Amino acid sequence: MSVTELEQNIDMDRVGEQMYDLMRELYPICRSITGEGFRQTQDILKQHVPLQIRAVPTGTEVFDWTVPKEWNIRDAYVKDPDGEKVIDFQKSNLHVVNYSVPVNQKMSLEDLAKHLFTLPEHPEWIPYRTSYYEEDWGFCLSHNDYLRLKEGMYEVVIDSTLEDGHLNYGEYFKRGRSPDEVLVTTHACHPSLCNDNLSGIVVTTLLAKYLAERDTRYSYRFLFMPGGIGSIVWLCLNEDKVFAIKHGLTVACVGDSGNFTYKKSRDGALEIDQAVQNVLRHSEREHKVIDFSPYGYDERNFGSPGFNLPVGSLTRSTHSQFGGYHSSADNFDLVKPQYLAESFGLYLAVVYLLENNRRYLNLKPKGEVQLGKRGLYGMLGGLQERTISEMASLWVLNLSDGDHSLLDISDKSDIRFEIVKNAADILLEHGLLKEIT
Ligand code: ZN
Repeated sequence: MSVTELEQNIDMDRVGEQMYDLMRELYPICRSITGEGFRQTQDILKQHVPLQIRAVPTGTEVFDWTVPKEWNIRDAYVKDPDGEKVIDFQKSNLHVVNYSVPVNQKMSLEDLAKHLFTLPEHPEWIPYRTSYYEEDWGFCLSHNDYLRLKEGMYEVVIDSTLEDGHLNYGEYFKRGRSPDEVLVTTHACHPSLCNDNLSGIVVTTLLAKYLAERDTRYSYRFLFMPGGIGSIVWLCLNEDKVFAIKHGLTVACVGDSGNFTYKKSRDGALEIDQAVQNVLRHSEREHKVIDFSPYGYDERNFGSPGFNLPVGSLTRSTHSQFGGYHSSADNFDLVKPQYLAESFGLYLAVVYLLENNRRYLNLKPKGEVQLGKRGLYGMLGGLQERTISEMASLWVLNLSDGDHSLLDISDKSDIRFEIVKNAADILLEHGLLKEIT
C-alpha cells in the first residue's frame, strides 16, 4: 500500500489506544539522557520499529560539548527521624533530581532542605528537575509533603552511579524511492511524564511503524534521542549525511488538548513550513504559527547556523506552555488517546502532502483547455464536489507553468491539497500535463 493514496481506512480510535497503551508501558521507566532507562525504552520501541540503537562513549567530543557520564539509579529515599520513608523513589521517579550523584548520609532537616525542590504555587505537584551538567543531588516532592517534614535527623540515600559508559540513541532509516530524506525526531529522555515527552515518543513510533510498511517517495529517518545532547551527537557523527535532509519535524507535546502550534524552520519559508501551514489551515482546527527561536527542543540544533536544516516543530501546546509542564501533573489526566490520534492524523497529512507535492507543465497552455469535450466535467468528483474539483482543475492548468507546485496551487486557490492533487492526476491521465523533475 502506498501513502500516495490518502488513507481513509485508518481506524484512528484504535491508533489512539495503541499509542496510549505504549505510553502506559513506558511511563514507569526512569529515563534520563543516558543509562539503562533510556536503553530499556529503546528496547520496547524496537518491538514496534526496527530501530538501530547507537552507543557513543562518555567523553566523546561533539562540537562544543562532551558526551557525559552514564547515569543509573536503583533506589532512593529519605527517612524521617522516626525511620518513616517520607520520600520514596519507588513511588515516583520524579522524586529524585535526575542525574543525582550517589548519597548515603544522615543530616538535619535544615541541611536536607537545601536539596529539596517543591512547587509552592501547585502544592500537590511533584516537580521534575535535572542536574545533567553539574554534579549535584536533590529530591523533589509536593509542597504539602514538604510542609509536613518535622525537625530532626534524616537518613538520605540515593543509590545511583555516575560513571563512564555510553550515550544511546535509536535510529530507523526507512528507504524510499528517492535518497532525499524527511527527518522526524523526538527527545526520549524524560522519566514519568506524559505530554513532555512520552506523547512525542509514541506518535513518532506509530508514524515510523506506519511508514515502514509502505512504499514511499522520500526516505524517512526517525531519531529517538536524549534531548539537546542527542541531536548534537547525531549531527556531529552524521555531518556528511545532512545534505540529504529535505524536510524535517521535531515531535513533542502532542498529547494534550491544546491547540496545534507550528514553529517554523530557521529559514521560515521552506516547503516544510508551507506544507504544515497548509495542512493546519485545512484541518479546520484552531492553531497558531510561530517563528523559529533558538530555544525549545532539538530544532535549536538542527537550526543552528552551521546546519540551518529545513526542520520545523509541530506541537499542540508549546514547550512549557501547558499546565503541569515538568511536574507530576503531566500525567494520564492531561494526555488522552483522542488528542494523540488527532496529532498522528496531522503528521500523516503532512507526510501525504510532501509525498504528493509535484510540479507539472500544462501541455496546452494557450487559452483555456476545453474540459467538456474530454468528458472531464463529469469525471471530477461527485455532484457536491463537482464545482470545487472543476475549479481545482482550472487552477492546476493555469498555474502549471513550471513555477508552481501543487502545494502552491492549493495555497493560491484555497482548495484542499488532495482535491488539487486528484484533479492533477486526472489531467495527467488525459495527457494535459507533464511532470517536471
Ligand atoms: Zn522537557
